[in-house]
Amino acid sequence: MPLISELLQEVLVCPVCHGELENVESDGVLRCKNDGRTFPVRDGIPIMMVSDTEEPSSEKQPDPS
Ligand SMILES: [Zn+2]
Repeated sequence: MPLISELLQEVLVCPVCHGELENVESDGVLRCKNDGRTFPVRDGIPIMMVSDTEEPSSEKQPDPS
């Protein structure tokens, strides 16, 4: 049984690079074929959150270093 429906997978792309995603059923994740980022799938719904990744557009307060 696939993690998510084929239709859902067709419309999903990597939120970072818009690359194609593939099911990694053994890990229960979707993986971007471009950059290898993985996104968990819960109850058939992929969690497309970009966390612990660098975000070029994010403007955080500069670290005093
Ligand atoms: Zn990607």
